[in-house]
Amino acid sequence: MIVRIPCSNPNCNHLILPETAAATGGQCRPCVNAEQRKAYLAEIERNRKEVNLYDPHDSALNWLKLSLTPRKHDPLISYTACPKTRQQLLARLNPNELDELRDTAIANLIENPHFAENILRYLSSFTQLNLLPVLPYLLNNHDYSFEQLFRYADNAITEKLIERVEQADEYQNLCLIALAWVNTPQAHQAFLKWQTQPPAWLKQPSLPLNQYTAYAHWQLDTLGNYQPLTFEPCYAIRVRSTVEQTAIGYLDKTLEACPCCTMPLETLARINPSQLGWVTAAQWEFLVCQYCTPFQEVTFFELDAQGCGHWSSYNATTHHSNTADPESAWEAFDLVIAEQRPAIERSDQFLPEDYSQVGGFPHWVQDCYYPNCPQCTQTMQFTAQLATDEFSSGVEGTFYTYICVNCSITASHYQQT
Ligand SMILES: [Zn+2]
Ligand SMILES: [Zn+2]
Ligand SMILES: [Zn+2]
Repeated sequence: MIVRIPCSNPNCNHLILPETAAATGGQCRPCVNAEQRKAYLAEIERNRKEVNLYDPHDSALNWLKLSLTPRKHDPLISYTACPKTRQQLLARLNPNELDELRDTAIANLIENPHFAENILRYLSSFTQLNLLPVLPYLLNNHDYSFEQLFRYADNAITEKLIERVEQADEYQNLCLIALAWVNTPQAHQAFLKWQTQPPAWLKQPSLPLNQYTAYAHWQLDTLGNYQPLTFEPCYAIRVRSTVEQTAIGYLDKTLEACPCCTMPLETLARINPSQLGWVTAAQWEFLVCQYCTPFQEVTFFELDAQGCGHWSSYNATTHHSNTADPESAWEAFDLVIAEQRPAIERSDQFLPEDYSQVGGFPHWVQDCYYPNCPQCTQTMQFTAQLATDEFSSGVEGTFYTYICVNCSITASHYQQT
């Protein structure tokens, strides 16, 4: 029989072989490893250098370039954070500097693609700069990965994209989404034609055409008419700062119970679409069951004549396995509709900005999602998104709400990383 002896670390209750003890000086392997790791981290800590790249006399343009430069992780270097946000720096650039930044991106497209892409994402989301000069380079490289940029396409670029879709470019699916972002009558015409005369590869597409255009937040209806899938103007949603502001009722309990879990249904947002300048209706109330909606693909609600939401019989009422635990209820907040922002500003998945808002283009945590109205089968329009972690700590995930204006049916959907 092998006799094992205790590890010499008094806080450890491992038993080890005498040979191991002889080799390590008495400790078990995990204790030896833990000590080595501790010594290594202490060594790093002693030798780590703080590096501040931001010279106070340097220009906003140079700070921005520095802050957008990807850096290899080096445990011995700790970089001082840029004292200004990228948006603050962008706001300080004059037109010549903006052009220079765009040209820096173009010059780095091949050699430093991540640097170039960082620049283009910020320019595209937070400035009005025309990014058309970038597109010939992207087309040359068959690079459609940042599809939104193609909204700057002119007729010649659009023609090229149409050609490439018809000839089945290597990245034909991305090419089609890029063309959807062009979103001009010329692009609409191409999609309309393909509804009846699709290119060979599109005869068995992985998605119907409208699901490609949904990435750019529009579609053609059955008659071929252009329909936006979003509302404008777009406004931020923030925590209320003064009592004069009208709260939208985030997670206010309603008197109606969820038929699945019997907990009260809750309001995600009560909005006034005519006040927002969308359509003439006095109120749309978007509901949710915080216990069930996250586990369903979509939950439907129906608006009554007052614009109050109610559970819809279009939902399957089958029980899900998750039992509601009121102890784990999410915190309600007084949220308000705040400043207006451009529709596209917070929609880029790769920019970690706060994006709770009504209207505008959605920011998908996972993938593009537009439900169909269960009554008329039309694609529903996006109305709001609420990123729960922007208000509460310890929760995560984003609620999206939609409406079919014709049927007065709303939908709630949840995505989480
Ligand atoms: Zn041990
Ligand atoms: Zn429920
Ligand atoms: Zn409908």
